[in-house]
Amino acid sequence: MMKLAETNPITQLENLLEFAPIAIGVFDAESQKTLLLNDAFQRLFGYTLSDIPDMDTWHTKSFATSDSSTPAFSTWLTKAELNTPSSCLTASVRIKDGRIRQISVSLTLAEGKKFFYVNDITDHLIIEQRLQAHNDMLEMVAKSSSLKDVLTVIVQQVQRESPPSLCSVLLYDKQKQCLWLGAAPNFPEYYNQAIHGIQVGPNIGSCGAAAYHNRHIIVEDINTHPNWQAFTELTQKAGLTSCWSDPIRAADGTLLGTFAIYNSPSPSPSQKDIEQIQFASNLASIAIENHNAHQELERRAYFDYLTGLANRRSFFELSSNMLKQASVLKENCALLMMDVDHFKKINDIHGHDLGDLVLKHLAKNSLSNLPEGAIMGRIGGEEFAILLPDTDRAAASNIAESLRKSLSDTSFISHEGQTIHYTVSIGMTFSLGLHCYIDELLREADSALYKAKQTGRNRVCTFTAC
Ligand code: GH3
Ligand code: MG
Ligand code: MG
Repeated sequence: MMKLAETNPITQLENLLEFAPIAIGVFDAESQKTLLLNDAFQRLFGYTLSDIPDMDTWHTKSFATSDSSTPAFSTWLTKAELNTPSSCLTASVRIKDGRIRQISVSLTLAEGKKFFYVNDITDHLIIEQRLQAHNDMLEMVAKSSSLKDVLTVIVQQVQRESPPSLCSVLLYDKQKQCLWLGAAPNFPEYYNQAIHGIQVGPNIGSCGAAAYHNRHIIVEDINTHPNWQAFTELTQKAGLTSCWSDPIRAADGTLLGTFAIYNSPSPSPSQKDIEQIQFASNLASIAIENHNAHQELERRAYFDYLTGLANRRSFFELSSNMLKQASVLKENCALLMMDVDHFKKINDIHGHDLGDLVLKHLAKNSLSNLPEGAIMGRIGGEEFAILLPDTDRAAASNIAESLRKSLSDTSFISHEGQTIHYTVSIGMTFSLGLHCYIDELLREADSALYKAKQTGRNRVCTFTAC
């Protein structure tokens, strides 16, 4: 440590400065030479006196980041004059290991020396920013912003905290066992496209593996890690070097997706990094759970819970629109009303639960027998309606007949191994290219269905006006 003076009180002052809890740098105001960098200064910046012989070097090494190399800051740092009242600036600085820290720095001048007092406010700012991101996110959730936008706020917060890292959120698709892109605002488009729909598996990248094992996966070097071998061309093109991925879990523990941090400044995650990932994963889980709950509500509003078909309301809406379009184009639509024969007996003999399985089976099989564009809905307990757009009478009759036949030909094996046969009756009517209301057509099809029931069931009857 350079001596400031030889007298006793000065030595005491040196000691005070040296071991002060705040980082202090003392420079000669005229020559700009460094006189003292105290212990806290060296810990904050990582530089010793030999690294920073003068103020200019400190400026070049630490302050040459975009927001602090402004002329105003340089002037403040290098040309402050005697008796200038102490002022305070905040700035981003680069420390010796390359990381960026946020500091507040104030300056006093005394006895031809410049005393810089530096506070590391990075953690404080991070807490403030996290709170802000948390509030922004909740506001966006409350305003029903898109999931992508909400996740982007979270991703950007983590990126801001640890530059030059890049973050992404992938969403778990349980059915397809894959991950879809949730938000990755700063990745190249070609990378996002390649990653969209990536499979979940024990050795697939960091995210596929994190989702598979439902635990944190840390890959320090993408170029050499076996999980990334299949992707190295892509990751090298995108300049990706490391990837830590964390599963995002719902409150009940089910997997929702993954949160990944690429190119983190530190090679392996510290306790702070883990807290950061957990903060991000927790916020992301709120956003994803809320989104899923919304989607489920929407699904329930439009789709039948048992069969997944359009419900009555939704069938009416969809088919009304289709009928309007068809009348403009003068196209014929066919409306089929289908009812399970003696369904009460099926329930009575095999139980209600099995009756439910019959309805599901019927829905699935019917859909696979219908042409593209057909709308099928469950409009009552065991009653279904089907609208066939732009279909002439002969084609509609064929479709109805083959549907009836395929259902009566297929036997259905229950979980208990019981073989169940069921049949349906179908009533059919046509719009004839005219402007028709769906309830009107349903009445006609119902009347034809009644005829099918009366004449022996397991048949198709067409409405005839009498
Ligand atoms: P038909 O050939 O004349 O149509 O005879 P059916 O027994 O099918 O007709 P009915 O209208 O007498 O009985 C319909 C039955 O469908 C009565 C009702 O308990 C049952 N049902 C309605 N909704 C559901 C459901 O969601 N699940 C089950 N398992 N049964 C249902
Ligand atoms: Mg019935
Ligand atoms: Mg019925």
